[in-house]
Amino acid sequence: MNKIEHIGIAVSNMEQSAKLFELLLGKPAYKEEIVESEQVNTLFYELGESKIELLKSFNADGTISKFIEKKGEGFHHIAIAVDNIVFEIERLQAAGFQVLNPIPKKGADNKLICFLHPKSTGGILVELCQEIN
Ligand code: ZN
Repeated sequence: MNKIEHIGIAVSNMEQSAKLFELLLGKPAYKEEIVESEQVNTLFYELGESKIELLKSFNADGTISKFIEKKGEGFHHIAIAVDNIVFEIERLQAAGFQVLNPIPKKGADNKLICFLHPKSTGGILVELCQEIN
C-alpha cells in the first residue's frame, strides 16, 4: 500500500460544498467527474500528494444520499493507492477483511477500486484504488 490517495467526503449540496472547500483549501477544484458505477457526482481538490473528493449522489436512493440520511454530511471514506489491487484484495480477504466488491470496478479518476466493509476495518470505509494504465 502506497499512500493516502484521497479522502472522500459526502455532501448534499455540491455548489455549497464546492465554495466551502475552495475557501478552506485556498484553491478551486481541478476536476469534476460523474461516476456512473457509484451514481455520484465528484469534485476533486489537489492537496500535495493526496486529494479530497467531494461526493454527491445524483439520485435520492444513491449510497451517498443514504449515508447522509443516516450519518449526515462529512467524512465518508479513505482511499489507499495500491500497485496491484487484485493481489491486495486476495491478501486482505485471506486476513479476514470483508471486501464489498471482490471484483474491482471502475471508479473516478481513472482508477480500479474496491471497498472494504467498515465492520471489518474498525468503522472506517476503506477504498483501495489502482491507477488504470
Ligand atoms: Zn474515493
